[in-house]
Order: sequence, then structure tokens, then C-alpha cells
Amino acid sequence: MQKKPFVSAEKLREIACVHPTPFHLYDEAGIRATARAVNAAFAWNSGFREYFAVKACPNPFILKLLREEGCGVDCASIPELMLAHAAGFAGDEIMFSSNETRPEEYAYARSLDAIINLDDITHIDFLAENGGLPEKICLRYNPGGDLTIGETCMGHPEESKYGMTRDQILEAARILSSRGVKAFGLHALLASNATEAHYYPENASVLFSLAAQMHRELGVDIFMVNLSGGVGIGYRPEEETPDIRAIGAEVQRVFSEILLPAGLPHVHLASELGRYVTGPHGCLVATAIHEKHIYREYIGLDACAVDLMRPALYGAYHHITVAGKEDAPCDHIYDVVGSLCENNDKFAIQRPLPKIDMGDLLVIHDTGAHGYSMGYNYNGKLKHAEILLHPDGSFSMIRRAETPKDYFATFDFCDVMKEFM
Ligand SMILES: *Cc1c(COP(=O)(O)O)cnc(C)c1O
Repeated sequence: MQKKPFVSAEKLREIACVHPTPFHLYDEAGIRATARAVNAAFAWNSGFREYFAVKACPNPFILKLLREEGCGVDCASIPELMLAHAAGFAGDEIMFSSNETRPEEYAYARSLDAIINLDDITHIDFLAENGGLPEKICLRYNPGGDLTIGETCMGHPEESKYGMTRDQILEAARILSSRGVKAFGLHALLASNATEAHYYPENASVLFSLAAQMHRELGVDIFMVNLSGGVGIGYRPEEETPDIRAIGAEVQRVFSEILLPAGLPHVHLASELGRYVTGPHGCLVATAIHEKHIYREYIGLDACAVDLMRPALYGAYHHITVAGKEDAPCDHIYDVVGSLCENNDKFAIQRPLPKIDMGDLLVIHDTGAHGYSMGYNYNGKLKHAEILLHPDGSFSMIRRAETPKDYFATFDFCDVMKEFM
């Protein structure tokens, strides 16, 4: 299967004339369409809400689009909560799914009346002292063991630092009920980038069973089951992005099997998809600025791992298209690299691509989630701009590129870097 960029070579050149490369480009139409598809897939559940995982794409302009599509947000820090607040989210439109939480983080989340997703039983007193216990709270579950669906092992919850054991969830619910909490949500994130369509229904079945047990044994009210994120996308041309409609239908089947007979038909479902919603609708656009012929053929870009860490960090595959050479034969083998003084700064290793000429624009696919946001400033490399392509073909900058001044901003209390500030 051929993987095509969401933007034509012609449009890319037009954008690059106004905004010099490198930049992340996002496709508004694609983001909206996927948000709508997620909402439609779960429309059978009246209270369903997608809480977009802000860490995937923490830009207020993107968050606003998602808000217009009826989404909420999932945050894990004060700045993420601030972004959510600035984009207009409030109260139960915000999930706060933190871990190793600091006192001021709970206090700020409570001040926005966000839904707290409690990571541990030992946080009960800590939350009570920092912001206070709410009337409704979500509890994060970790079933332990391995998550195996059919023959496939999807993850190792036992090795994961998040969430509580089953006994702790029940105990936490008892304690919290006695301290005035009126309704409970349940949450679990058991896999990452799961392209297996069974992941979400499996996670639903684990959480629905626990919800039924809590309701039966403790008599507590369950207001929400949050299936969290982890639904994957096809990064490689031969990989398929799962169909969210089919996933929604399977979750509905599990819902009628477990929650209806348990007397919990009113439970609202939630998701916290990040990658699935924005991942395919962003790309990193860079220019080939050097070619090098040593033991391998290298193409050097003006972007580097600062703009996209996933290949360096996890050896992740990101497809590359050379703009204007979409149909040219891939008869050259290149390592496509960035400029960090780290040899893992390679966007592609031994990748068959068309012949690349200096000045060619390269589209690195699927960077709309966990792309810009994971970036850092190693080697004094500055992070680049973010551009939003609108449905009518116009485009706007939604974050400017960093300048040395931004990089030095944390020296503003002293004189050392004054000449550059
Ligand atoms: C990272 C994360 C998500 C989003 O994960 P994706 O893989 O982007 O879907 C959702 N919820 C929580 C609590 C997370 O940590």
C-alpha cells in the first residue's frame, strides 16, 4: 500500500516559501474527521467523551479544534492544565491522569474542578490535603500480569508503574466512600500503539468486570469507565490503522454483556486517545541540505531528533516521502539523518527512497502525536514551528520557532548571557 502525504508537493512548496523548514504541519480537516469518527463510534453511549491526551500534541490551537468537535482533554501537569484552561476546557471536560503527582498539581487540578484519576491508594490523604477530595473520582487500575489477546502479547501491566491492584481499588473505594465520595470512575491504560482491534474491547471487559464487582460488593455508583489511550496507527505502509467504528461496536457488545446485567446501564464511557486522533494528521517537513558518500549514503536534513525523537528513542519507523517524487522508483538506499552529535539521530536507516537532490522537501509522516511534544534542546538545537493547514488550503503558524533568546530565557536572573537576550 502506498502511503501518501496529506498535502501535495505544490502546496508544501507554497508553505515552505512563507515558513522556512523545518516545521511540523498539521491537517485540520483530518484531525476533525478523526475526532468525529471517534465520537460517532461511541455515539451509542450517551455520555461518551474523548479526552484528547494533551501530551500528544500540546498546542492550544489544536486543542480548540478538538473542543469544537466535542472532545475533552487529558492532562498530567500544571502547564498541560493551563493549556486546557486557555483553550476553554473546564470541569469534567478535563481528566487529570497524573502519577508521582506533586501537591501543587493536585491543588491546581482541583481548582479547575478536573476529574482526578487517582494513581494510588496512598494518594487519598495526599489529595485530601492538597485541594481536597472531590465528590466524583476516577481510580486507575493495573491488573498486573501480561495482557495477552489470542496469541499476541500486547503489554506487561505487571511491569508498569501506574495504577492500583484490584484489592487496592476496592479498598480505596471503601475509604473514599466513607469520606464522602459519591461516584467512581475506573481507568486503565494497558497497551501502547495497539493496532490490534481487540485491545480496546479487552480493556473494556477488564474494567467493566471490575466496575460490576465494585457495584455489587460495595454498592457504590460508577459514573464512568475510561478506556484511556493506546489505540495505534499504521506507521508503516503495510500496517493498517484500526477502524474505530468496529472497535466501538465491539466495546458496545462487551458493554451489553457485562454492564447491562450488572445494573450499570448509565455508565459513561471515555477515551483518552492521543496518537489515534492527531498522529496521522501531522508531518515533519524538512529540507535535504547535505549528502555524504562514505561507507553508506547519507542525506542530512535541517531537522533533527529535537523535532522528532521517536526514531532515536525507540527505533520507531516513520515513513518518508520526497515531495514531488511520490511515484519515482525507490532505487537508492539512504540513511536520512539529523544534525545532533549522537549517531542515533537517524530518521531512516538503510531506507529505499527515490534519488534525493539537495533542496528536496522531505515529508516525515505521522508526527502529529508525540512528535513536537517530545522534543528537547540537546546540542543547543532549537525547536521549530508548527503550522496548521486549514480545510480551504490556507495555512497559519500556530507556534513560532524557538530563537536563541528562548533557549537562554532561564538565565534571565543573571548577566552572563545578556548580550544574546
Ligand atoms: C499517553 C497517555 C494517553 C494517550 O496515549 P496514546 O498512545 O497517544 O493514545 C492517554 N492517557 C494516559 C493516561 C496517557 O499517559
